[in-house]
Amino acid sequence: MEKQTIAINTPYPHKDAYGALSMPVYHCCAYEFETASEMADAFSGKVLEPDYSRTMNPTVTHFEDRVKALTGATNVVAFNSGMAAISNTLIATLAAGRNIVTSRHLFGNTFSLICTTLARYGVEARLVDLTDVEAVAAAIDKNTAALFLEIITNPQMEVADLQALSALTRQHHIPLIADTTLIPFTEFSAKDLGVDIELVASTKYISGGATSLGGLVIGYGTFPEIEKRLKWELLFNLGAYMTPHAAYMQTLGLETLSVRYAQQAWNAKTLAEQLTLLPEIRRVNYPALKSSPYYELAQQQFGETGGAMITIDLESQEACFRFLERLSLVHRATNLFDNRTLAIHPYSTIFGAFTPEEKAAMDVLPTTIRLSVGLESPIDILNDIKQALA
Ligand SMILES: *Cc1c(COP(=O)(O)O)cnc(C)c1O
Repeated sequence: MEKQTIAINTPYPHKDAYGALSMPVYHCCAYEFETASEMADAFSGKVLEPDYSRTMNPTVTHFEDRVKALTGATNVVAFNSGMAAISNTLIATLAAGRNIVTSRHLFGNTFSLICTTLARYGVEARLVDLTDVEAVAAAIDKNTAALFLEIITNPQMEVADLQALSALTRQHHIPLIADTTLIPFTEFSAKDLGVDIELVASTKYISGGATSLGGLVIGYGTFPEIEKRLKWELLFNLGAYMTPHAAYMQTLGLETLSVRYAQQAWNAKTLAEQLTLLPEIRRVNYPALKSSPYYELAQQQFGETGGAMITIDLESQEACFRFLERLSLVHRATNLFDNRTLAIHPYSTIFGAFTPEEKAAMDVLPTTIRLSVGLESPIDILNDIKQALA
């Protein structure tokens, strides 16, 4: 079956008492058992039935099952935010005395998680240029626990060469953990490109228009000990499981994901092409533009779409602020892949807690504006941008 069909028709594990067509929201904490032995079997994991909603809930399980059916994963665990999915996965993977090889080009909170929070527990961060495969190879040693990357970095728009990097991680028997939030898993197969554990901030495309926070850990069975630790240790001990209400909304979001994405990616490409014609814009960064240094790689890995995030560079920070303040249709807000178009100045907001030196090392520039392109008419978005630049 095609993905669009699977996204809508994944069967429920139990028939609903009323034949409900969409998965009911099981807003309960605990579940009653007929017998003591059934209760013991559920607690020991011998049978997969929920006993307490911190670790299992029918609504969340159904959402996880749909993601499993769409990706071909062996295990999917849903968390209450993208950061919860990332932090739980890294905690399941790392230990004191081990190191993680990654890049300076990371989502700000992920960078801080690795370089501040996990560093406090004795994990070493090895920051390398992931476009230089030899440098990555040189950073890996016997204490390396994983290679972590984002498939397209934000706001730098660097595209990772997943096949080259996964060849390296296979050689060293370490997991390749990839944050794939920027391109939905309905568009490409991270598994086929060698990713062992895929992480998604489902807050973004999947939630269906910024309805709820969520995160997904999608395991492909190559590092079963990490998947097992996440599900049978960390859900219990860290308590960051997705809530049933969020799972309900995100299940609905999955049903419309491919149609929304197709339109948003088309809008983004159309807009990116038009923006290159405006003299006030010094540079337009978008992987599906032929002028992007990552054009070929992005086409080969993700197909012809390049996501719905664009960054543009203006002449100064003042020009960026002036531009943002003059926007009237496009919203001044963080977040990605809302149904509406959003604009932000990452340097002074998302990366505001970093020093100018740190930001320079991360290639986060004071001249960059990030646009998350929505579902409006691209003509209206372009007109608003043009008037704000004038
Ligand atoms: C938004 C985002 C996250 C964090 O997700 P939250 O749901 O906000 O915690 C992580 N990685 C990337 C690439 C993101 O865009």
